[in-house]
Amino acid sequence: MRYAGIDKCDICNGNDVGVSVFVQGCHFCCDGCFNRETWDFNGGKEWDKTIEKQFINLVSKPYIKRVSILGGEPLADENLDLTIRIINIVRKYKSDIPVWIYTGYTFEKIKKDFQYEVNTYLHEDISGVSLLERIRIKRFHVILMCQYLVDGQFEIDKQDLTYSKVKYAGSTNQRIIDVAATMNNEGEIVLYE
Ligand code: SF4
Repeated sequence: MRYAGIDKCDICNGNDVGVSVFVQGCHFCCDGCFNRETWDFNGGKEWDKTIEKQFINLVSKPYIKRVSILGGEPLADENLDLTIRIINIVRKYKSDIPVWIYTGYTFEKIKKDFQYEVNTYLHEDISGVSLLERIRIKRFHVILMCQYLVDGQFEIDKQDLTYSKVKYAGSTNQRIIDVAATMNNEGEIVLYE
C-alpha cells in the first residue's frame, strides 16, 4: 500500500479544515491532471506503521473536521485496501467527522458494475466470483463507507476556478455526491449543498 503524501491542515479538498491523504497510483491519466507525480503505482512511499501513527495523531486533533482521500486514484484496484484502512481509522478514532473521496470513476459506473442487492451482498457467498467482480464489490463497498464522493475524471475544457472554490472540484463535470442521501433516494443523485 503506497501513498504520495499527506496534507496535515487542508482547506481545499473539502469543507472545514481537514487532513488529506494522497494515495499513489492512477490509471486515468487525465489531460491537465494537477498531480501527475501520483500516477505511478510504484512511486510515493510505503504506508507503514510510522505514518499510520502520525495519521492517527493528526486525525485526533480537535480542529480536524474532515478527512479527504484523493490521489492518485483511491478506488483503483491497487489502492482499495489502503482507502478502506484509512476510513476504518477515521471511524475508530474520530467517528463523527466525514470522509470525502475523490475518484475518476462516476457514481453511476461504480453502481452499474455492482450487481447485488445493497443490503444483502455482504451475506452472499462471493467465494466463486472472479477477481474483477470482487474488486467491483469492494469499490462499491468503499463508497458506501464515505460521506461525500467527488466523482468523475478531471476534464480540462471544463476547468472553472470559480466552481472549484465552491465545489472543491477541478472541473464542472465533477460532482460532490452525498452518498447516504443518494442511497436513500434509490440511487438518484443527491448533491452536497
Ligand atoms: S483521476 Fe485524478 S489523479 Fe487521476 S489523472 Fe485524473 S485528475 Fe489526475
